[in-house]
Amino acid sequence: MLRQELGIATFEDLLFHYPYRYFDRTQMTKIGSVNAQTEYAQFAGTLINMGEEGDARKRRLVATLYDDTGKIELIWFQGINWVKKNIREGDRYIVFGKVAQFNGFYNISHPEIESWNNETNIPGMQPVYPTTEKLRVRGLTNRSFAKLTQSLFEKIRLHDVPEILPANILHQHNLCGRFHALLWLHYPDNEHHEQMARYRMKWEELFISQLMIARLRLQHTLQPGWVFGKVGEYFNNFFNHHLPFQLTNAQKRVIREIRQDTATGKQMNRLLQGDVGSGKTIVALMCMLLAMDNGFQACIMAPTEILAQQHFFGISGLLEEMGITIKLLTGSVKGKERKAILAGLADGSLHLVAGTHALIEDTVQFKNLGLAVIDEQHRFGVGQRAQLYKKNQLPPHVLVMTATPIPRTLAMTMYGDLEVSVIDELPPGRQEIITVHRRDITRAKVMEFMRKEIDKGRQAYIVYPLIEESEKLDYESLMQGYEQVKVFFNENKYKIAMVYGKQEAGEKARNMARFVKGEANILVATTVIEVGVNVPNASVMLIESAERFGLSQLHQLRGRVGRGADQSYCILMTGFKVSDDSYKRIQIMVSTTDGFKIAEEDLAMRGPGDMYGTKQSGVMKFKLADIVADAGILEETRKAAQALLTLDPRLTSPEHQPLRYTLSQQGQQSHWSKIS
Ligand code: ADP
Ligand code: MG
Repeated sequence: MLRQELGIATFEDLLFHYPYRYFDRTQMTKIGSVNAQTEYAQFAGTLINMGEEGDARKRRLVATLYDDTGKIELIWFQGINWVKKNIREGDRYIVFGKVAQFNGFYNISHPEIESWNNETNIPGMQPVYPTTEKLRVRGLTNRSFAKLTQSLFEKIRLHDVPEILPANILHQHNLCGRFHALLWLHYPDNEHHEQMARYRMKWEELFISQLMIARLRLQHTLQPGWVFGKVGEYFNNFFNHHLPFQLTNAQKRVIREIRQDTATGKQMNRLLQGDVGSGKTIVALMCMLLAMDNGFQACIMAPTEILAQQHFFGISGLLEEMGITIKLLTGSVKGKERKAILAGLADGSLHLVAGTHALIEDTVQFKNLGLAVIDEQHRFGVGQRAQLYKKNQLPPHVLVMTATPIPRTLAMTMYGDLEVSVIDELPPGRQEIITVHRRDITRAKVMEFMRKEIDKGRQAYIVYPLIEESEKLDYESLMQGYEQVKVFFNENKYKIAMVYGKQEAGEKARNMARFVKGEANILVATTVIEVGVNVPNASVMLIESAERFGLSQLHQLRGRVGRGADQSYCILMTGFKVSDDSYKRIQIMVSTTDGFKIAEEDLAMRGPGDMYGTKQSGVMKFKLADIVADAGILEETRKAAQALLTLDPRLTSPEHQPLRYTLSQQGQQSHWSKIS
């Protein structure tokens, strides 16, 4: 039960199940001093007037506690018989609980109650542990947790909790020992100790993660890789004759970085950061050509079918006149076609493939995969990245492209093992997207505006939120929206296409294609179009129920327009009432188009927990540390981790053995071990 609900299986787990707050039970409150502000309080007094009240269904036990200043009522609704057996009128008790008010009288229901014989057994700080409803129902209340940890701490001694950090680090960074950190986290004897304990355990968490990352990075540098020694015909021919525009300086620089990296004989592991629309795809394509120039295959992997298709069509188009074949491999490519693709990849006759995670299935074998590009990585777990490494006798070079910029602290924790390239420049001629917030009641005006844009020859998106709890509801709200759009746009004159997540793949592709080719004026969609879709002629992005979207999602969606030379617009529709947080998000969107700024705000507002799929990546399970609030510690631990590995890269020295063991344990829990 404990294991299922909270993952606690051993005493050690219990030690690391930290309280999230404490009840201060060092103080006694005089009953007479209770007022409306009193929350949790502890009293010492004498119990009188115990008796049952109410009928069978609402039976309750009531008693009164008094001291020399007043009286307060104690109430039990459950476990009445047990309570009756264990407390007696006329005896003195220490009582603790949450004070409530009813009909002008103060009371405590289900108080913690202990007999009180002398002045010495006043409890100290009492830890409050996270628990679950299921456990509470089974009687595993916070109190029982506290009893467990209390008896645990009565038994264990200093040597039962060995130190894992080297002495010089403890000293240098002013950290308390591990045993005391744990003791004070559960049972702080004063505030200073509690803070020291917290600091120490945060430090440890971040240090371990940074050490893990630094080691991975070190391993990467030792990992031999394919040599892309030359720039050949494919690359040059494309660059000189088929590139539809001039590369920006940032794009050129990044290509150069990648070229240098892939020529060293070491495996490349690189993160390509760039804001929405900065032109990451063309960089990826040119690197894929570089792989081909050196006799290797290359693949580009995207998180959704739509994106994979788009890469496929986009790249096919660009390479058309060069006579290079590229194939699309997704879950819905089946039968003969799939067989042919798999055969082509295995015998090396097929050089380029775009696809979804279907690409990393075991059945997909490459003859010599030289470069794997992973687009919009935050949807892929770290483990999936690792899968790619196993495709050859040597792992391919890996280029990870992010969908939106990532704040520095997050990049350090999630991608700290990768080298980083940044495209910090948008292609020329882009106009700033005009972003506005509109309420539902002005819908008619908004639609009118949209019609005018469409009449100028542009296209528009209308996006509906995904209601995750219910696919059916999703579909219904999308349908309703679709009907509503049809009221505003005469079907004879305006063509509307619709795509959504659960649509049959072929139909989805057809509808998408209608919009891409300009046959449809409006695309009504759920967030399936969130990442990467590229239709430069689209200039209006209308986001319905914008309050339901997160910041990075909104930024991604907005990035679907402003891709051509036309002035583009993003309209965030909400109802009349929105929460403070939603309003703040919308204001941020209206005030800036800078993806890095938005990413920082997003991280600050949401915390790293649910950003960028960090949960599924299993990298960031910090119990105490918060990479935003503790950015300073993060920076410190990163340096410390690097310094330690410089001295002892293999962690062979005796005093680093506990660390080494800890890392190996952590590795087993996450996907990390698969990478190395
Ligand atoms: P993202 O970085 O968001 O993946 P894309 O690679 O989809 O961006 O590029 C966005 C758009 O900008 C595409 O239409 C692409 O053809 C265009 N583009 C990319 N690089 C340039 C450039 N140097 N000059 C002009 N347009 C470019
Ligand atoms: Mg993209």
